[in-house]
Amino acid sequence: MTRFAYFHDDFCPIDDARVSIMTHSFNYGTGCFGGVRAYWNAESEQLLVFRLRDHMVRFLNSAKLLMAQIDHTPDSLAAIVLQLLGMEAWRENSYVRPIIYKSDERLGVQLHDLHDGLAIFSVPMGRYLSGADAIRVGVSSWRRIDDLAIPPRGKLIGAYMNSALIKTEAVLNGYDEALVLDQSGHVSEASAANFVMVRNGTLVTPPRSANVLEGITLDALLEIATQKLGLPLEMREIDRSEVYYADEAFLCGTGVQIEGIGELDHRPIGNGGVGPITAQLREHFLRIVSGQDPDYVHWVTPVPIHEHALM
Ligand code: PMP
Repeated sequence: MTRFAYFHDDFCPIDDARVSIMTHSFNYGTGCFGGVRAYWNAESEQLLVFRLRDHMVRFLNSAKLLMAQIDHTPDSLAAIVLQLLGMEAWRENSYVRPIIYKSDERLGVQLHDLHDGLAIFSVPMGRYLSGADAIRVGVSSWRRIDDLAIPPRGKLIGAYMNSALIKTEAVLNGYDEALVLDQSGHVSEASAANFVMVRNGTLVTPPRSANVLEGITLDALLEIATQKLGLPLEMREIDRSEVYYADEAFLCGTGVQIEGIGELDHRPIGNGGVGPITAQLREHFLRIVSGQDPDYVHWVTPVPIHEHALM
């Protein structure tokens, strides 16, 4: 079956969506990307995209950091994503990757006076949730990139070298993930997920100024926690050692969704398993993304069936 991509302002077979080795973005990391999940609801036979418009807003915000000139609105991008998913006709959980990149085939490190391309593809992606098992995390020896070096609030391609260093060190040292400190030594986030802990029934997460990505899953979970579970929330600096004292902690993001942290630096968090608040949040989250929570149907967009899917 043909797979599709959006490339050069149109849909095409994915094998035709290729760039030259001279492409600016390939040489210098001058691009930005997004990552959106779509959940297959087997009962209604619908693919539901989670917070599509919000992801497109953040994608275009990342593009601002790049000074990208792109003739699109969040809604026009969302329409392309829906059409692509309709053409791909996934009947399983999947993931959409939109990219804006400096497309000129020339050298010279800069952002201005360059053309910007838009490319979008999608892949099947399972749930990745480790279920009852909590993950093992170690503090990274790498620091999070700083807003004054490479702004981490956007998803800039070059910035993910930092994430790659962090993830590889963590996995080769036997952990599932890393917790990363910022230049001031306070908790920032994981390699590609935001961090939240629970202390005495209060949710605590670093402020946006802690060099974190402005996570959409985090935003969703904080809303669920405050609105549905009535939990208080603090956004403040977190010391490394305060996490050792936490009752619960979890990572959240489009890829990981929500993963309970069982231990940090070989010290158990809470009782070492997925905490009760984390488990409750996960339950609400999975109901919402599969379109089963009437309070949050505005967060999911069904993919219209496309004519390709019927052939
Ligand atoms: N931080 C980083 C560095 C990430 O790459 C991601 C994944 N996009 C997140 C946090 C989580 O953000 P979101 O929930 O919007 O996917």
